[in-house]
Amino acid sequence: MPVRDAPAAESVDVLIVGAGFAGIGMGIQLARRGRESFVIIEQAHDVGGTWRDNRYPGVSCDIPSHLYSFSFRQNPGWSRVFAEGREIQEYLRACVREEGLLDHLRLNCTLSHAQWSDDDGRWLVRTTQGEFWAASLVIATGRLTEPKIPLIKNLDGFGGRWWHSARWNAKVSLVGKRVGLVGTGASAIQILPRLAGEASEIVVFQRSAPYILPRGDREYSREEIERFAADPRTVTALRDELFAEAERGIGARQRRHPDIDLLRRRALDHLAASVGDAGLRRLLTPGYEIGCKRILFSDDYYAALQLGHVRQESSPLIRIADSSGASAGHGNRTAIAASGNAYELDVLVLATGFNVARPHIAGHIRGRRDRLLADEWSTGMVAHASTTVHGFPNMYVLDGPNAALGHNSAIYMIETQVGYVLRALDHLAASGADALDVTAEAVQSYMRDIDAMAQDTVWVQGGCTSWYRDERTGRVTLLWPDSATSFRDRLATFVPGQYEHLSRGGH
Ligand SMILES: Cc1cc2nc3c(=O)[nH]c(=O)nc-3n(C[C@H](O)[C@H](O)[C@H](O)COP(=O)(O)OP(=O)(O)OC[C@H]3O[C@@H](n4cnc5c(N)ncnc54)[C@H](O)[C@@H]3O)c2cc1C
Repeated sequence: MPVRDAPAAESVDVLIVGAGFAGIGMGIQLARRGRESFVIIEQAHDVGGTWRDNRYPGVSCDIPSHLYSFSFRQNPGWSRVFAEGREIQEYLRACVREEGLLDHLRLNCTLSHAQWSDDDGRWLVRTTQGEFWAASLVIATGRLTEPKIPLIKNLDGFGGRWWHSARWNAKVSLVGKRVGLVGTGASAIQILPRLAGEASEIVVFQRSAPYILPRGDREYSREEIERFAADPRTVTALRDELFAEAERGIGARQRRHPDIDLLRRRALDHLAASVGDAGLRRLLTPGYEIGCKRILFSDDYYAALQLGHVRQESSPLIRIADSSGASAGHGNRTAIAASGNAYELDVLVLATGFNVARPHIAGHIRGRRDRLLADEWSTGMVAHASTTVHGFPNMYVLDGPNAALGHNSAIYMIETQVGYVLRALDHLAASGADALDVTAEAVQSYMRDIDAMAQDTVWVQGGCTSWYRDERTGRVTLLWPDSATSFRDRLATFVPGQYEHLSRGGH
């Protein structure tokens, strides 16, 4: 489709969409290479992505902070082993300020439409703050950004207040309230211990029990922080140690023995040591193989569950009672679980995760022959090198298809992809072509490798449903189903033969 002329549009070499870890990491590397012509657009009022949006009590990373941060911007000052969300966001703000990204950043600027133009060999990007022509487009819009609201019948008829964990309503005090916490995933287990200190009654709605390992969180002492600051090699050494330890976790995910048996044992021992009551322990014992769903880390979740005012409901919340009989205009506060148990509640907190398989952004990007990215991904996300999509020239997706991990730091994966994009940009500049379009064969071959790698892993064989797999096909489309190191090896070389080289006019 011919793209309408947009003379007023600003021209840039690279347009990055999203200012979370991925967009900021990409921006830093461009700036450090002296590339001036790029912008980062961010739909929100501030940077930080995940760490700006998730403000629930107790929010923190579950990969240690010294590993959950850029290798090229280490931070000796982390206050604890697992930093809270605010500290992580502050780290990202400092990255933006100190790496000279402020002039490149457009806040409150949402991508509304991106269209590839064969004639121009560029992307025309429409945003809420005007138009851009961009030679290359980097999609860094995250994968845990769109809250998933489960099907709860008559939720709108709930007479109390409800919100999703990633949209925390800090204006409502929970002191003395009866609260329903829906879900037992990574966010819920961080929320419960804090919530327990405020609410008068809590019901935890559990659809399936998670495996939980001890976390070992603590503050770093002043001496430790001073030592890290005085000698950056100590931070690098700690980081390497944390990485190697996390990386060993891939053996269990690949169902290797004794790795998986030892890991399962550790989690079940933690449960046994934490929960004395055999009945409750049974309800908290997962019915699938360890690692199939994300393994969680907590030192205080089981203790909070056993407090006198906390109840465990071992079935999902499925409906709110209809309003007949409730006081006029106030709706109903009766929340009913699949078991039939009913609870009177004032507030519902939905810690129910995110929509991951069908990213919203894909409905706003049109590539060659006017093809919508959402159509290209209609049976699940696919990409070559987890980064490039056939028919979408000069477009790079960070932290998207098959780029997440279940056992190590997302930041390592993001840095790996940023490296790949830089190599692609260098190759494009050297090649004299205007655009690179990955071939369909390269994508198919990469996806065949992913399927083969995933086949025997716990994510496919572990007997659970998880967000790592696309529900339409059962394929593992979110995760890189192997070690973080193998991802880096795989993306270490940019292979020009896997790309069609295009000139303006689409040839
Ligand atoms: C509570 C929580 C805890 C986590 N803990 C860990 C952990 O311990 N370890 C780990 O490895 N991973 C963790 N993750 C995963 C985490 O999402 C990633 O580690 C990482 O933060 C993702 O960064 P990102 O830049 O890819 O995405 P995001 O941080 O989601 O940033 C994407 C940005 O794109 C913006 N955007 C989206 N659409 C548009 C648009 N159309 N126009 C303009 N801007 C747009 C968004 O506003 C957002 O700012 C956690 C996730 C959550 C939710």
